[in-house]
Amino acid sequence: MLIKDNVTIGIEWRFGPDWPGKRCGAKTRRGTACLRPANKKNGRCRLHGGASTGPRTADGRARFSAANLRHGEFTKDKIEKRRASAAKGREIRRELRQMERELIANGLLDKRWRDSFLS
Ligand SMILES: [Zn+2]
Repeated sequence: MLIKDNVTIGIEWRFGPDWPGKRCGAKTRRGTACLRPANKKNGRCRLHGGASTGPRTADGRARFSAANLRHGEFTKDKIEKRRASAAKGREIRRELRQMERELIANGLLDKRWRDSFLS
């Protein structure tokens, strides 16, 4: 019967106690240090490395941005363009309301002029 102590399968590629390489060393749930071989980049094994913190260089960030761009409707310049055109529309409508008020005040336009478009 195979139990924890007498399994020989894969023994030659296991990282035993006398493996000379750098270890992960993270604290395991057993309270001991992790013995898995460490990654070159962060010194931890693939189980204890943690999540990626994203691209660091300007070039990497640009590539990341390009790879994640779906349709460009929410890029900064498109949003700014929509904002500017909405502001222009508000300005025009404000001006029209002002003109309407003045025309009504000067008696050039009937107060209920909109009703003539009904029926
Ligand atoms: Zn580890």
